[in-house]
Amino acid sequence: MTDLVLPDLARDRLVLPGDPRYAALRSTYTTRHSPALVLLPHDAREVATALEHARSTGLAISVRSGGHGLSGRSSNDGGVVIDLSRLNEVTVLDRASRLVRVGAGARWAEVAGALAPVGLAISAGDHGNVGVGGLATGGGVGWLVRSYGLTVDHVRAVDVVLADGSLVRADADHEPDLYWAMRGGGQGMAVALAFEIEAVELGHVGVAQVVVEADRGGAMLSRWSEVMAAAPRSWSTAMFLAPHGRSFAAQVTAVVADADEAELLGLGQAFQDVGQVLAQQLSMVPYPALVPAAHLHVNLGQQPSHTTNGLFGRLDARASRSLMDVVAHPAQPLLQLRSLGGAVNDVAPDATAYAHRHQEVLATVTTFPPSGRRHLDAAWSEAADLADGAYTNFESEPGPRAHDRAFPGGTGRRLRDLRARFDPECVLGGDPV
Ligand SMILES: Cc1cc2nc3c(=O)[nH]c(=O)nc-3n(C[C@H](O)[C@H](O)[C@H](O)COP(=O)(O)OP(=O)(O)OC[C@H]3O[C@@H](n4cnc5c(N)ncnc54)[C@H](O)[C@@H]3O)c2cc1C
Repeated sequence: MTDLVLPDLARDRLVLPGDPRYAALRSTYTTRHSPALVLLPHDAREVATALEHARSTGLAISVRSGGHGLSGRSSNDGGVVIDLSRLNEVTVLDRASRLVRVGAGARWAEVAGALAPVGLAISAGDHGNVGVGGLATGGGVGWLVRSYGLTVDHVRAVDVVLADGSLVRADADHEPDLYWAMRGGGQGMAVALAFEIEAVELGHVGVAQVVVEADRGGAMLSRWSEVMAAAPRSWSTAMFLAPHGRSFAAQVTAVVADADEAELLGLGQAFQDVGQVLAQQLSMVPYPALVPAAHLHVNLGQQPSHTTNGLFGRLDARASRSLMDVVAHPAQPLLQLRSLGGAVNDVAPDATAYAHRHQEVLATVTTFPPSGRRHLDAAWSEAADLADGAYTNFESEPGPRAHDRAFPGGTGRRLRDLRARFDPECVLGGDPV
């Protein structure tokens, strides 16, 4: 029996330890936790009630959408979790203008599956189990990133609950500061309930799965960077790098938006200029095949890991060499490179709280047990010195330094000022003001 005062919500909205649902709700994808209470609000009013109650307990509060955040901040030990998974609507508001309303608690596989039958898509990451709320408040680097830009670039309005429990709609005309902040710096600012997003018309996408030999010195990475800089913006590529026998290999997934067969063949051909192609497979698939419902799963802390990242311009010899040093590090980190540029860089740096609008590459590095954060930092430190900013959503250890990398200069100062205005008591656990 708990002495925790429970909020005025229906019984099925409350999940306490001992409840059969607790096991599937206590943790995140990367971290295991034991909150005192998980709340499952079903609408905006219930989210406000949940937040007001959580504040009154004085306990730590976590806000969760999909539970795929790398920091584990969407759960806690001994506190209250507000789990938004019941707010998972996907509604086409206006097919002509492609305006879609997406609940923060939906997963991107659900969004893709609901929009494909009407010929629409929202580019939003590479994994179908990631939640709308975390990704769409931080950025959104997806399979169509060079043609479509970031997810936040297409957000036209956000409905939020502020830390004081008030419901607010933020768009270009109402609460424009909040609208700016929620597109890139929204975590710890307010609780996003739903986003109105302008989707794109999308038929099939062309996908090339390519394995390319990578050299220790990084020449292949520099060639890839040059090829992508000259590539049509309909191309986006991502690669994992790993040791391969006595050498190294890049496992590349390259996507052409709205492709025809000729473009797909052109994409496959382009890798001949990148390095020795060890294997290649080309296919045309509907967009949901890239973020399939098969990705959906319960989060049980099953993937403990430490992750950080850096943004880079064109990969010159020094940067490429340094990234290959990461791959060769004894801690055996997993390095992923994604091409940026294209539509991402059409947006002005001060238009949204995601300010990085000139970089061309996102590098994400992860270590898995038994390697820990110390090993990650050791492997990454030289590359970190060459990086030009970072993406908040691929950082597992938030804090002032990570904040400054993700939100440099005036962006960081504006976010801190707005957090002091919208959440002065730091109820939502944003980085210290
Ligand atoms: C396997 C995997 C693949 C990924 N792939 C990509 C990718 O391709 N592209 C990409 O851009 N990112 C990717 N990410 C990173 C992902 O965008 C972030 O981890 C994102 O924060 C996860 O969102 P979520 O709702 O699932 O997370 P949660 O764990 O629910 O939340 C993460 C953070 O956001 C806050 N938050 C959650 N919901 C809200 C809300 N509604 N309002 C305000 N704050 C909220 C939480 O409090 C927490 O601090 C990936 C992560 C993983 C683990």
